[in-house]
Amino acid sequence: MKLILSLVFFLTSFSCAYANDLGQAAEKSFSFKQLLKSISEPDLKNLNFSFPEAKAEENFVLRGDERYFITVLASTKEERTRLMELGLDIQEVEGNKVSGIAHAKTVTLLSQKGYVIVEKITFSGYAKEFLKDFPIADSAYHNYAEMVEVLQAITAKNSDIASLYSIGKSLEEREIWTLRINTDAKENEKSDKPGAVFIGDHHAREHISVEVPLLHAVWLLENRNKPEIKNYIETLDIYIIPMLNPDGAEYDIEGGKYKWHRKNTRKNPDGNIGVDLNRNYAFRWGGAGASHSTYSDTYCGPSAFSEPETQVAKKFFESHDNLKTYISYHSYSELVLYPWGGVYEPVENEKDRKAFIAMAKEMADITGYTAKQSSELYAATGDATDWTYAERGVFSFTFELSPSRWGSGGFYPGVSILEKTVKDNIAAANYLLSVTDDPYKTIK
Ligand SMILES: [Zn+2]
Repeated sequence: MKLILSLVFFLTSFSCAYANDLGQAAEKSFSFKQLLKSISEPDLKNLNFSFPEAKAEENFVLRGDERYFITVLASTKEERTRLMELGLDIQEVEGNKVSGIAHAKTVTLLSQKGYVIVEKITFSGYAKEFLKDFPIADSAYHNYAEMVEVLQAITAKNSDIASLYSIGKSLEEREIWTLRINTDAKENEKSDKPGAVFIGDHHAREHISVEVPLLHAVWLLENRNKPEIKNYIETLDIYIIPMLNPDGAEYDIEGGKYKWHRKNTRKNPDGNIGVDLNRNYAFRWGGAGASHSTYSDTYCGPSAFSEPETQVAKKFFESHDNLKTYISYHSYSELVLYPWGGVYEPVENEKDRKAFIAMAKEMADITGYTAKQSSELYAATGDATDWTYAERGVFSFTFELSPSRWGSGGFYPGVSILEKTVKDNIAAANYLLSVTDDPYKTIK
């Protein structure tokens, strides 16, 4: 009974219809505590799926999906970059092995080229089945409509300092919503205050990367009168964009099974779906580590900024000269990465490099993650943070959120991981706010 009651609580809390105007939204209340309490509801924790062993081929629930999670021998970053170029979407690097997602064609290519594949598993046993939306056990995660509802409600309650507006549309014409916190300027009005940007979900299946910036927004507005937070709100221009790839995120959860979808939903001419938005930015586009194969999870697109979502991000950064700091949230592997990602050389400007390292180390200490130059793992061109630093001079970081490994849940770690991940990352994001007025003060 208790279980049923908590399910009812959950369904009513999170499956509310999409409220179309702020007036309606204002009647709903989404407190940070309530959201986190729901997340850690003990009965729901028990409902959380355990991560099953791979099953036999006949149980292949993602029938038609020709991808595998493979482990390959490769011991240098140059080898890892080459593997990326051959279409492997690397998720984990450990000693002389790397693991990640590869299409069957990439698996064949790697074998032909003499790479040693030490493990190859299908997604069959790993997919969670559910009826629609997120599975019940993961219903604390917000789909697009639920995210919009939370954003509308908190904006309506804090309309003196918060505004909610769309910075453009996705390929399927979903609005890309941005919550702005600024005591003087609303929506896209100009501001001279130093700006900080937090963007989630370049990659569809990385749903936890929506929760962190979304709940950060809730937390900031709820704690707006704490002296430290009040100071950030009064002196900074803060933008939170929890879901840059709404089409991909919705596609990943529709139809009753997680699809392990990374890209947007572009239908490529050969029928393969998606362009990797985090390989589609223009800086060094299509070079080292990029895949030009449409079937690859890291397909960089036919040209730089070919996709509406990256165009929207480009326009956003280009229309704000005041932006100083940026976190692009991803999952998984618990890393704080800083440029360059596209080349092995460190950032040339010594002052910038030192500031990057100082900030990354601080945020790694707060979260327990590891700070690294992005290309220490492998080089990958065309990502968001290389472009925003190179072209816009913004101190830009890529966070790979929890968990650390595929075996701990990978892209679908369930709800038990949310509370700690959200709280630790709010602390790290608040640290970034504390240095946004002058990132160089970290090295003074
Ligand atoms: Zn990602």
